[in-house]
Amino acid sequence: MARVALVTGGTRGIGHAISIALKNSGYRVAASYAGNDAAAQAFQAETGIPVYKFDVGNYETTEKAVKQIEKDLGPIEVLVNNAGITRDTMFHKMTKQQWDEVIGTNLNGLFNVTRQVWEGMRSRKFGRVINISSINGQKGQMGQVNYSASKAGDIGFTKALAQEGARAGITVNVICPGYIATEMVKAIPQDVLDKAILPQIPVGRLGEPNEIARAVVFLASDEAGFITGSTLSANGGQYFA
Ligand code: NDP
Repeated sequence: MARVALVTGGTRGIGHAISIALKNSGYRVAASYAGNDAAAQAFQAETGIPVYKFDVGNYETTEKAVKQIEKDLGPIEVLVNNAGITRDTMFHKMTKQQWDEVIGTNLNGLFNVTRQVWEGMRSRKFGRVINISSINGQKGQMGQVNYSASKAGDIGFTKALAQEGARAGITVNVICPGYIATEMVKAIPQDVLDKAILPQIPVGRLGEPNEIARAVVFLASDEAGFITGSTLSANGGQYFA
C-alpha cells in the first residue's frame, strides 16, 4: 500500500513541486493551503491531489483537518511542514501582529501539525517529518527578524524531535532553501535580482522548486532511515552552516 504524505502549503510554490514529486514517486498525497481557493482548485484539477484548507497556526482546526485527511487517505507516514509566510519589515517598525503571524504559521505550525501525526508514527514505528526552514533561519536576515527567528526555531525543533523519534523509526530533518524561483521571489524587480541577489549566489541563478522537492523525496524514502536531525542547505553555495 502506498504511503500517505501530507504537504502543508502544498498547493503553491515549493510545496506545489513537493506534492507533485511525492505523487510521482508513488505516495498518496494530501496538500493543505490557507486561503487561496483559486490556486488550490487549479492545483487539484491539474494534479488530482486532494486539497484541504486549514490554518496551520490554529491548533484546533489543524487537529480536525488532520483527522479528516487520515480518514480520507489513511495514516500519515510522511509529513512535510512547508507552509510559511513572510511579514518583512525592520524591527523598529515591526508590529506585534507581524511577529505573531509569522511565528504562528512558521513555528507554531510545526507543533500544531506534527503533534497530530506523532503518536501514530510512534505506534507504527515509522515516520518521516521534513521541515522547510530557510537560509535566513541559518544566517539571519535584516528586515526579517520574525521570519529568521521562526525559521531558526524550525531547526531547533528538528534537532530535538529527531532525538525523540529515533528509536521509533521516525526521522526528522530540515531543508534550508536559499532563493527559489517561486512567485514570492519572482516578484522582486529584475534589477534588484541582478545587482543584489544573484551575485551572492555562487551558482549564479535562483533555485528551482523541483530542486527542493527532489531532496524531500529522498529524505522521505525508506533508504534515508539513517539520516535524522540533519539540516540540508540547498542554496546554490550561498551559505554553509
Ligand atoms: P508560497 O507563498 O509560494 O506558498 C505558500 C504556501 O503555504 C501556500 O500554499 C499557502 O496557502 C500556504 N500557507 C501559508 N500560510 C499558511 C497557513 N497559515 N496555513 C496553511 N497553509 C499556509 O511560498 P514558497 O513556496 O515560496 O515557500 C514555501 C516554504 O519555503 C515556506 O516555508 C518558505 O518560508 C520557505 N522558503 C522559501 C524560499 C523561497 O525562495 N521561495 C526560500 C527559503 C525558504 P495559500 O495558497 O492558501 O496562501
